[in-house]
Amino acid sequence: MSQPPRRLNDLLADYFEDLNLAGITEFPPIPGSVQNGAGRQQSGENPLPSAPNAGIPSPAPASSASPSMKKFPDDQLEPILARVKPALSLRAKEAILRDMAQVVAGCKLCPDLVANRTQTVFGVGNPNAELVFVGEGPGADEDAQGIPFVGRSGQLLTDIIVKGMKMSRDEVYICNIVRCRPPGNRNPSDQEAACCRPFLEGTLRVISPQYICCLGAVAARNLLGTDLAIGKLRGKVHDYRGAKVVCTYHPAYLLRNPPAKVQTWEDIKMLLRQMGRM
Ligand code: SF4
Repeated sequence: MSQPPRRLNDLLADYFEDLNLAGITEFPPIPGSVQNGAGRQQSGENPLPSAPNAGIPSPAPASSASPSMKKFPDDQLEPILARVKPALSLRAKEAILRDMAQVVAGCKLCPDLVANRTQTVFGVGNPNAELVFVGEGPGADEDAQGIPFVGRSGQLLTDIIVKGMKMSRDEVYICNIVRCRPPGNRNPSDQEAACCRPFLEGTLRVISPQYICCLGAVAARNLLGTDLAIGKLRGKVHDYRGAKVVCTYHPAYLLRNPPAKVQTWEDIKMLLRQMGRM
């Protein structure tokens, strides 16, 4: 039986997502259109998932977020993070991450995400990992299972780790910029990313990786607090609080654009060289 034709909105959504995942985030203004001061489309009511990052500085660290932004209560997170000390045992790290995940499960800071999520998706992997992968946000499969990168993109990431890097998923840690699924697979908004940043920072503080691999433009720009396109962030080693950061394309982009796997393999080889594994 033939498939029903895809709706124009779906096709446009995929197109903008591909552009954004490829790091093409700035577009010339449309004559006569109304835009905000930074030239960015307003998110929220727009069914297109990805163009919203166009032309605005990426959200840097939560400290630069709008003063009106809601903040997760310090008295819930701080006592957990206060247990982070140098040279923690694996068991201690596991316990801190488990407690943080429990607290995150009750987080309701982002109304649009809370209304649509099945559950929060905290992170998975080795609390002692030397390498952490940071993606953008959970998709439908991840939302259903509560585990990051388990859908088709997750299978490709697993292939990159296992077949490409000769490592196992259990050796690394995998998490996202936001812990709740953005509905319709849209990008997380800057405010949502900023709200969730304490959880990302807390996770990285506990694990204390030597290397971080950002998967896609949203992850790279949010983690590094830059508005540079991923095309400009690839091919260089960046720094996040002493960890070496390599940026590459999101697996979802690679699924749609297989030729870009060549560039991702170059990024992964650079990461492996940094790790002394190549
Ligand atoms: S995305 Fe993060 S900050 Fe927003 S509701 Fe989910 S856990 Fe809370």
